[in-house]
Order: sequence, then structure tokens, then C-alpha cells
Amino acid sequence: MSDLARVLEQAIKEQVALFVAESREALVEVAAGKPVRAVLLEPMLQRVTLVLAKRIVTHLAEQLDGGKVRNGHACQCGGSLLYKVTRPRAWGSMVGELAFSRAYFRCGKCKATQYPLDVVWGLRALEAPTKRREYLTPAAGWRLAVLNAVLSYGQGCKQLQQLTGLRVSAMLAWRNVQRVGRRSGRSPALPYPPPGPAI
Ligand SMILES: [Zn+2]
Repeated sequence: MSDLARVLEQAIKEQVALFVAESREALVEVAAGKPVRAVLLEPMLQRVTLVLAKRIVTHLAEQLDGGKVRNGHACQCGGSLLYKVTRPRAWGSMVGELAFSRAYFRCGKCKATQYPLDVVWGLRALEAPTKRREYLTPAAGWRLAVLNAVLSYGQGCKQLQQLTGLRVSAMLAWRNVQRVGRRSGRSPALPYPPPGPAI
């Protein structure tokens, strides 16, 4: 069995064993006429999904050497983007926070920079500056913007947390709406968030 399969099996076993033990305990209590204590199925499945997604993505990035298939890439200026370093970072995605290492390239001629793996995985546009820090993946950013179209910034963040386990601030949510609005060509119709603590 591969290392990945072993790690995934272990992660599933841990969650399943805990869930079975808690469910059995609750069933025994019900059988004894005690009040029902809910052991919720969906949060457990969500936890397993998040753990698996995290492990799988780390493994995929390792398999692809962080996106470094060559030491040099063709640059649009006619020069070459050269491999410099491999850097880790975290993304807030629809399946929780994902962290992996990606190869970083830079052109000596025009100073353009690139993380090819981010581009190929659809996390960042080819032309987007690599210095721009965006925590949410495009999919998670869009989902949060949709939530914020119908809910307050704070409530939208809470909903996103329930869906994905991600904790984001109302300020990040506001910036996200501006960004999604720019990308989709529509001006954001949402007001600036009221002042308040980060969620
Ligand atoms: Zn260049």
C-alpha cells in the first residue's frame, strides 16, 4: 500500500473509531431510557473530508515537485522565468484550508514572477501579480461573495465556516466581494461592512 493510502486509512480509522464509540454510548443511553444525546453524522463526515483533502493536496504537490517540471519557463517578454525557490502557503478552499509547497519562478529580464502550480490548478490567473496575497481560492471566494450578497458580512463568514471550517474576518469578506466584483465585471452592490471585531 502506498504511503498516501496508509495515511488516509489511518485518518479515516481514527475518525470512524471515535464516532462508533460515541454512537454506541448514545445508543446504550437511549436503550436505558435516558434522554437522547445526538451524535451528529454530517459534521463527522465533514471532518473526514477536510482531513482527507488536506492530505491529498499535500501529496499531489509533492508528486508534482511543487510544479517544477523544468528549471526554466518561457517568459512572455521573450526571456526565461528561472526557478528560484519552493515556498509553502495555505489556501482557504471549499474543502477547508489546504497547504502545499509551490515552485517560484522569476524572469531576470522583465522581473515577472510566477507560481506555475497555482496557475495550472486554477488558483491564480497567469497574469495576476504573485505578490498579491489572496487567501481564498476562486471557488471559496465566489461562494463567500454569494453568501455576502444575501447575508451580512459577519453572517456570511459564519456560514462559510460551517460549510468549510474556514475562519475569515468580515474585512477579508469585504475585500473578497470587491475582488469578485472586479473579476466578474460587475460593480459590487454591497456596502462597506460595519466596524466590528474579526469573526
Ligand atoms: Zn520576462
